[in-house]
Amino acid sequence: MKIVGTPREARKIIAGFREAGESIGFVPTMGDLHQGHLSLVNMALEKCDRAVVSIFVNPKQFGPKEDYGRYPRNEEKDHAILEKIGCDLLFVPTVKDLYSTSDRTRISVRNISEHLCGLSRSGHFDGVVLVVSKLFNIIAPDMAFFGQKDAQQAVVIQRMSADLNFPIRIFLGPIVRDENGLALSSRNRYLDISEKKRAASLYKSLSEAFNMLTMGERNPDKICKRTKSIIENAGLEVEYVEIVNGKTMEAVDEVSGTIMIAVAAKLGGVRLIDNIAARIENDLVEEVLLEFPEWSGYE
Ligand code: AMP
Repeated sequence: MKIVGTPREARKIIAGFREAGESIGFVPTMGDLHQGHLSLVNMALEKCDRAVVSIFVNPKQFGPKEDYGRYPRNEEKDHAILEKIGCDLLFVPTVKDLYSTSDRTRISVRNISEHLCGLSRSGHFDGVVLVVSKLFNIIAPDMAFFGQKDAQQAVVIQRMSADLNFPIRIFLGPIVRDENGLALSSRNRYLDISEKKRAASLYKSLSEAFNMLTMGERNPDKICKRTKSIIENAGLEVEYVEIVNGKTMEAVDEVSGTIMIAVAAKLGGVRLIDNIAARIENDLVEEVLLEFPEWSGYE
C-alpha cells in the first residue's frame, strides 16, 4: 500500500492505475477505522481493480462546539489495518493540503441538507460536500462507497455528485453493528461499557419501529412516539426521531414507499445517530439500503 499526503502525489499514483486500465474504488473516511469502514473498503476491492482510502478529519464539517479537537486519531493502527486488507493507496492530506486560506468557494445541497442532522448541525453538510467534492476531484474514482450509517450524508453526496456531473457511481454499504446492535462509530470510543449497552437502545427502538411497520402500523406519529420512549427510557436525550422519505429526507405524513426511520440522541454529551430504511408496498415491509436510481450526472 502506498501512503501519500499531497494531492499531487495522489494524482500521480492514480494516473499510473489509469494507464494500466484499472478501475478505482474510493472510500473517504475520518480514520480511527473499524469494521464499518472496512466493509466499505472490501466492497471497493470487490467491485474495482484498485481501492483508495482517504483519512482526513475535516474541520469544515465540525461546528465550533463540536469535537474536532478530540476526534479520535489513530494513524498507525489505521495504516496497518488497511495494509492488511489490501488497500492500494491511502491518501492522508493535512488541512493545508486541501484548504487554502484564500478559498472562497462553497457548495450547498439545498433542502436535503436542511432536515434531520442539518437542523442541529448548521453548515455540517456544506462542509461534507466541500471536502468530498475536493476528494472526488483529486482521486477521480469510478465508484465511491459510503455507509448507510450516515444515510442523509450519502443522499446529500449523491445529489452533489450528480448535480456537479462527477462521473462517479455512489454505492451504499449496510450498517455494521456490535453484538448489542450498537452501530459502530469512531465516537463510540467516548462511551464506557455500560454506556455502550444503553446506547444500544437506539437500535432496539428502531427494531421496535420496524416491527410496528410489519404489524401494519402506518401512522408515523405513533411509531415515532414509541421509538422515542424506548430511547428515553434508557436515559438518552433524544434530538430527533423521524420517519422521512428515503430520497428527500422530508418527514412523511403517511408511511409508504421507501422510507427511513432516523434517530439522533445524546448520551453524556456524545451524539449518536442510527437508522433503518424500509420499502413498504401494501402489506409487505422489507428492510433495504437506500438506493440511488437516478444517475443524472453519471453519463
Ligand atoms: P467516518 O470516518 O465516520 O466519516 O465514516 C466514513 C464512512 O464510513 C462513511 O461513509 C460512513 O457512513 C461509513 N461508516 C461509519 N460507520 C459505519 C458503520 N457502522 N457501518 C457502515 N458504514 C459506516
